[in-house]
Amino acid sequence: MLVIGAGATGVQLASIFNAFGSEVTLFEAAPQILMSEDPDVAAVVSAALSASGIHVLTDAGSIERFEPCPTGVRLIYTDHDGPDQIDATLAVVAVGWVANTADLNLAAAGVRTDARGYLQVDGDLRTTAGHIFAAGDVTGRVMVVHEALREGYVAATNAVLGRTIALPAEVSPIGSFTDPEYASVGLTEATARKTRSVIVATERFETLPRPIIDGRTTGFCKLIVDQQLHTVLGCHIVGERAVELAQVAAVAMAAGITVEQLALTPFSFPTYANALGRAAVAAAGQLNPPTTPGPRSDVTVTRYVP
Ligand SMILES: Cc1cc2nc3c(=O)[nH]c(=O)nc-3n(C[C@H](O)[C@H](O)[C@H](O)COP(=O)(O)OP(=O)(O)OC[C@H]3O[C@@H](n4cnc5c(N)ncnc54)[C@H](O)[C@@H]3O)c2cc1C
Repeated sequence: MLVIGAGATGVQLASIFNAFGSEVTLFEAAPQILMSEDPDVAAVVSAALSASGIHVLTDAGSIERFEPCPTGVRLIYTDHDGPDQIDATLAVVAVGWVANTADLNLAAAGVRTDARGYLQVDGDLRTTAGHIFAAGDVTGRVMVVHEALREGYVAATNAVLGRTIALPAEVSPIGSFTDPEYASVGLTEATARKTRSVIVATERFETLPRPIIDGRTTGFCKLIVDQQLHTVLGCHIVGERAVELAQVAAVAMAAGITVEQLALTPFSFPTYANALGRAAVAAAGQLNPPTTPGPRSDVTVTRYVP
């Protein structure tokens, strides 16, 4: 199987079909897989995919054409070394979605779409026709089930009751069920650093009891914290239960709690969520360095001001 495009969809396809026993080549034009994710996360996922037998090609060049071949389909492409080809039984192109709106004649109703067919909406999810609202994938925003549900509630409420609620600012966690899982919520470290002063704390799974017990030690939890406000700006996880960890971080972000409050929240033991708790402790420690180190100078929980 040849998978073109190593975004969330392509990487999940590759991971799942590899687990089913297919020989998979993942073809990505960009210099890394999962371009929208934290580079540290992408690097761990890429290494794990390669270790599991997937041929991961990044910076792979540009596609010239597909043509039939004895195995099924041949990809002809050009990379730094010139023309090349890959033969496969099946090719799956996963380079982004378009909205299936072309046949709806939305212009007749005054509903504008963008170049990919997505409906343009405002913060109330009202389209350019005042009495028509849109929610879910067709808006082209965050294309996941939990976001579609939230948008459906906002759009339906505003449509029935008039302008009542705006789309909440809280960020959605996103993640993929690859092996290993990865997930994120909020800003990446690079994006956060463009506008904020941040501190970063990373807790590696290989140091934590539950991943060690389960033999699932690949991964880490990385927390990005606003140095001034002490709030969590982003959380990036790769490893077992990554999507669940991002959910816990999303709740902390939605509540606007400080990283000190997160550090003081008891995390059940032994769990994967411990990674988030320990990253919070490490981040809070950076924000509140102990003046007189005690016997446990690495852990300064008692010094936090909630
Ligand atoms: C392979 C795959 C895996 C995914 N995995 C995840 C995941 O693990 N987690 C996650 O959160 N999201 C996942 N998603 C994304 C998720 O499925 C979508 O974000 C979500 O379904 C969006 O909901 P929606 O109601 O906007 O659209 P849809 O679920 O697509 O529902 C739209 C409905 O409208 C119908 N329809 C279309 N045109 C018309 C018309 N003209 N008239 C009447 N009805 C029409 C369609 O038949 C469909 O039933 C995945 C998507 C894919 C493709």
